[in-house]
Amino acid sequence: MDNTILLENASVLRLTELLREAKHVVIVTHMGPDGDAMGSSLAWKHYLCSAFEAGSLSAERSVDVIVPNAFPSFFNWMPGAGEVHVYENETAACDRIIEAADLFLCTDFNDPKRIGPVGEKMLANACPKAVIDHHLPDKPIDWSEVVFSFPGSPSASEIVYRIMKAISSQSSFFGSLSCEEATCIYTGMMTDTGNFSFNSNHPEMYEIVAELVRAGVDKDAVYNAVFNQHSENRMRLWGYALYRKMKIYPEYHAALMVLDADELDKYKYQVGDTEGLVNMPLQISDVYYSVFIREERAKPGTPHSRIRLSFRSQGDRPVNMFAHEIFRGGGHANASGGELYGTVGQAVRMFERNMGKYLKRD
Ligand code: 5GP
Ligand code: MN
Repeated sequence: MDNTILLENASVLRLTELLREAKHVVIVTHMGPDGDAMGSSLAWKHYLCSAFEAGSLSAERSVDVIVPNAFPSFFNWMPGAGEVHVYENETAACDRIIEAADLFLCTDFNDPKRIGPVGEKMLANACPKAVIDHHLPDKPIDWSEVVFSFPGSPSASEIVYRIMKAISSQSSFFGSLSCEEATCIYTGMMTDTGNFSFNSNHPEMYEIVAELVRAGVDKDAVYNAVFNQHSENRMRLWGYALYRKMKIYPEYHAALMVLDADELDKYKYQVGDTEGLVNMPLQISDVYYSVFIREERAKPGTPHSRIRLSFRSQGDRPVNMFAHEIFRGGGHANASGGELYGTVGQAVRMFERNMGKYLKRD
């Protein structure tokens, strides 16, 4: 994978200017926020807050992070997580913040559809936007004035780090990286590479990790906080899914796990409890594709359940076209997602009907 990240100086200068001028910065990230979404967003928040507190340009400044829906509780410990606004839960307050914004920083996505209703509200505000992302865009990112799009980068957090370094080296208004910023960046780099087990062969990545640890990141503590603080129910749900629900398709080297809403209820499912589960079947030697299907019960007044699909693969076996063309989703070649409104049975039938087209047999 091409990991060339050459920041255009003109874009860095323009973003610096926008950040200095902005009074109300709103940072937004994708639905189903993961560690990279949280890390890249919160890093910006800390970076800007320290600059604004130190600088005396204006007292009337605000920096808010808005996520479309809830994030897993294993990110609660992240510095600043307590002040993140969840649009689904505080819609009216978020709408006011979005209307008052004079700059949006959009991290870890490039299509406003990925942030659900927040996207429409954001686009209704004509103020400048900056995208910082590492997904391959489906279409031109023409809705944003400044674009840092590096599909070769393992995480959005790494791009954010590089941009911050570039800004700080050129503008004394912005200081050097604090431990909080570094911790958020590290969390994103760690989670989007499966604790440095995929997309992680770039030497520069470890130079950045070294700088982050030097800035005070306790990487062992971050690992523990994210991966070792789960409930007993969550562990039993994983056991159930792997023991009872994993179907193997040997001719396609594929595995499928499906959990419906009743099964999730039985194990008192909490947001994030199945994060990472889809990777497990890849531990089997002949399994190169893994798909996980999860039902979110229909909201009152809506007819259909939301069915979420997660796709993972290894090596030269892209799954993003499968997710994009059949399940209106997308993502990276080896990690994609999609959804449909209907039943888990429909999702499984659509998956099985299309395996021949999208999955390699050899
Ligand atoms: P996950 O399986 O963890 O939900 O998602 C894996 C990857 O696919 C992530 O990089 C995520 O950004 C991307 N992804 C998940 N769902 C969607 C979707 O509905 N649309 C697009 N374009 N990407 C998605
Ligand atoms: Mn990411």
